[in-house]
Amino acid sequence: MMTISYEYEGSLYVNLTNKCDCACVFCLRHNGHKGSIYADDLWLEHEPSREEALEDLLKRDMSQYKNLVFCGFGEPMFRWDDDAWLIDTLKERGVKLPPVRFNTNGHANRILGRDITPELQGRVDIISISLNGADEAEYTAVTQPSTGALGWADMLDFTRKSAQYVPSVVMTIVDKDKTPEDIDRARALAESLGATLRVREYIPD
Ligand code: SF4
Repeated sequence: MMTISYEYEGSLYVNLTNKCDCACVFCLRHNGHKGSIYADDLWLEHEPSREEALEDLLKRDMSQYKNLVFCGFGEPMFRWDDDAWLIDTLKERGVKLPPVRFNTNGHANRILGRDITPELQGRVDIISISLNGADEAEYTAVTQPSTGALGWADMLDFTRKSAQYVPSVVMTIVDKDKTPEDIDRARALAESLGATLRVREYIPD
């Protein structure tokens, strides 16, 4: 069975791609898990078309969810054009969406080859970007972006630009192996970009 959308902690999560340009050391995609704590099976047989995803989402009662979250087992921004189409089409069909959130690695502009941040305006209410480290070396070691050191600069630039268009920009960091000084540095960095820092607890396998 293929999971396009699933409920988790009161929100509806949308899973349209398993692609990612990173290889985070903690990522469930390559830790040998089939599925995860979130849903039975997030490995997609094929990437659903935008129409398949629309059909799936139209069956949901959006009024009961806290957020509509584009996330899943991969980097959702690989499908940004389809995500934007889905958001627009649902609204055109009269669906009242809960606040829309993206959980992203912040590499969208590199992935799509253009600055997409103005397109977030009016579509995305909350963007959550994985900071994963207080400096470039730590970030690169943890996330292993395919573009190497560019990943860090891209992510910071995307965060700064998103803050102009998205009401709430959050950077997340996992507390494992972090000193209070690391967290302070990460917080100062997030705030300098117009974001707030959210410290997440490490969940072992
Ligand atoms: S950015 Fe997300 S999907 Fe990509 S490897 Fe890291 S944790 Fe996995």
